[in-house]
Amino acid sequence: MSVHRPKNIGVLTSGGDAQGMNAAVRAVVRTALDRDTDVYAIYEGYNGMVNGGASICKMTWDSVGGILHKGGTIIGTARSVEFRERAGRLQAARNLLEHDIDSLVIIGGDGSLTGANTFRQEWSGLLEELVETGQVSREMADRHPNLTIAGLVGSIDNDMFGTDMTIGADTALQRITEAIDAISSTAASHQRSFVVEVMGRHCGYLALMSSLATGADWVLIPESPPDVDNWEEKMCEILQSGREAGRRDTIVVVAEGARDRNGNPITSDYVKQVLEERLGEDTRVTILGHVQRGGAPSAFDRYMSTLLGYAAVDEIVSGRSNGEAFLIGMQNNQITRSPLMECVEKTRAVAKSITAHNYDEAMDLRGSSFKEAFRTLRTFVRALPHEPPSGQKPLRLAVINAGGPAPGMNTATRAAVRLGLDKGHIMLGIRNGFRGMIDGEIEEMHWMSVAGWTVSGGSELGTNRKIPHGRDFYAMARQIEQWDIQGLLMIGGWSGYQTAYELLRERENFSAFNIPIICLPASINNNLPGSDVSIGADTALNSIVEAVDKIKQSAVASRRCFVVEVMGRHCGYLSLMSGLATGAERVYLPEEGVTLREMQADLEYMLRGFRSGKRLGLIIRNEAVNPVYTTSFMSALFEEEGGDLFDVRQAILGHMQQGGSPTSFDRIQGTRLASKCIDFLIEEAHNDPPGAAFIGLQGGRVAISNLEDMPRMMDYANSRPKRQWWLDLRVIAKVMAQPAPHADLDNH
Ligand code: ADP
Repeated sequence: MSVHRPKNIGVLTSGGDAQGMNAAVRAVVRTALDRDTDVYAIYEGYNGMVNGGASICKMTWDSVGGILHKGGTIIGTARSVEFRERAGRLQAARNLLEHDIDSLVIIGGDGSLTGANTFRQEWSGLLEELVETGQVSREMADRHPNLTIAGLVGSIDNDMFGTDMTIGADTALQRITEAIDAISSTAASHQRSFVVEVMGRHCGYLALMSSLATGADWVLIPESPPDVDNWEEKMCEILQSGREAGRRDTIVVVAEGARDRNGNPITSDYVKQVLEERLGEDTRVTILGHVQRGGAPSAFDRYMSTLLGYAAVDEIVSGRSNGEAFLIGMQNNQITRSPLMECVEKTRAVAKSITAHNYDEAMDLRGSSFKEAFRTLRTFVRALPHEPPSGQKPLRLAVINAGGPAPGMNTATRAAVRLGLDKGHIMLGIRNGFRGMIDGEIEEMHWMSVAGWTVSGGSELGTNRKIPHGRDFYAMARQIEQWDIQGLLMIGGWSGYQTAYELLRERENFSAFNIPIICLPASINNNLPGSDVSIGADTALNSIVEAVDKIKQSAVASRRCFVVEVMGRHCGYLSLMSGLATGAERVYLPEEGVTLREMQADLEYMLRGFRSGKRLGLIIRNEAVNPVYTTSFMSALFEEEGGDLFDVRQAILGHMQQGGSPTSFDRIQGTRLASKCIDFLIEEAHNDPPGAAFIGLQGGRVAISNLEDMPRMMDYANSRPKRQWWLDLRVIAKVMAQPAPHADLDNH
């Protein structure tokens, strides 16, 4: 059977705009060119397809240069009334045939994707009509027997089946998180209450996750209306007790589509009225509105959209899905292909459940991690822990931070302390890492000891890279006995993991170490075993991307090449991912090293580029890629060889990468992991011997690995895991960074 090879590809953005759409368009264009396929941008959504003419434009490698950092979509988006009618779609088909286009990559919401599917179903009928009315030749129609649709979901609401994240959702969540952080600080100064309204007509994702990320005090979402009729009273009671416990601000987050059990809308103004009348609080309303859609896309939205765009074209060009409508999404950290209409229908089912007041069903459809986040939030909003069950003997559980500081450590520590207290246990904080433990810097933590810790970067408990040895173990065993510690949660990086493993090995010498131990990965380097990502890496990545955006802007008036050095030690994660997210021409990874010959080839490429009009070059270099070919060496080499064509500047980003307020992703995942760690310690406290483990996110799920297995999984010499999933993305980074020789000739 011969596989029909599709002709040309069209790409459009449609419906509401979303940050990251540009990255997807760029990836579609560059991947298509890499595969020798012509690719056309269709401007202004379906309007452009119906209008044809200048709205359908052949793209070159350079047409999508310099757009990764831009919010919205450079090819425009629109809502098209004409495309809803068959007559409009007939015209659209004719316009596509004019350019031999029979595959479309559509980046939009469920409306846009439904429209695309209708179009695909009608395709042969439309072509027949075009032939009969003499608008296209029979031969032309025969050449394009069917239309292939690849859908990518562009929507800030994260409201679609077939993908765990939609394009734009991570950025919108981050924008909301920053706004609520800002509101919290002014609210706290005046002891005010704020009601913050966020987008989401049928989907509470943004409201729920931003509440979890910011430590908001109450949230109202469409899928799970308050379960009692007098919810106002219950809410006010909890908010009041929060005030009494010393909380200085009250934040209530309301999703646009929030409602009560009977389906009546709960508006932000109504919540304000309730707070004013029942609590006598000075209350303000902030409706975040379109701010949520705006601004530069986050690092995640840039690289995820790049991977999706790449996969969409890959699928089309392979001919495997010829004539089908499919959705390319990301599920469990993998790029997946699903039947388009099945995803649209399931998405609509949630809205239907909400309308029919089937809230349990709506929550079930949202999935387990959404439900789990909601449960966790309901614990956090309490001002004080629940009363412990009578007869339960409380455990004494300790939390320690170790390794370099990572944004999100505090969030995870706060979550662990509060969730432990809520389960009726005594929580201890060990200050200043294992150094502090040796010295007995230990204290009991209370509910309000961790207030405000969601937002702050660094480590409030204090951390360092001390790895104990010799007599240190004796001192630590003494402290464990003295404080009667019955479980240890280590939140930190590689030195923390090594120490935890040593404690396990020393169990035979010190019976005090016979307590459950669990490590939670927190390191910007992302070099820890058992987890696809570690807490802090997302924040560091975003800091790098923001810095590189600014560095690139500084060069507008000159021909310049930048060599940017990023952290990561012997792990190239930050380098590769920031390279993908900023459009670097070349990324030097410690996993690959670099030779003089390679640098020479890269230099040749730069010279060729600048000679043919290039104005900006970007090289990202991991700090440990080669001890001799340092950043300064590379810069000097490129500067010297660049002659008059371009000059070179180096930027060593340094410790800014370790600091900063954690991103919503790091806060949410830190909270999620901490919650599971506490459960582990409680469960293992009764086992003999008690478990020792490290937790992580694997394929989007929480996974717990046995600490005994750590040496097997680690490349000790390089302090990084033996298997690193993200190395597979190098192929895609290469396609995005440099035109293949054949594309180079055709499209420069
Ligand atoms: P979103 O894609 O963000 O859900 P809309 O629902 O507004 O946004 O859809 C965007 C555009 O997609 C519409 O203006 C229309 O042109 C097209 N569209 C939506 N639904 C259909 C449909 N059932 N049939 C044909 N076209 C549709």
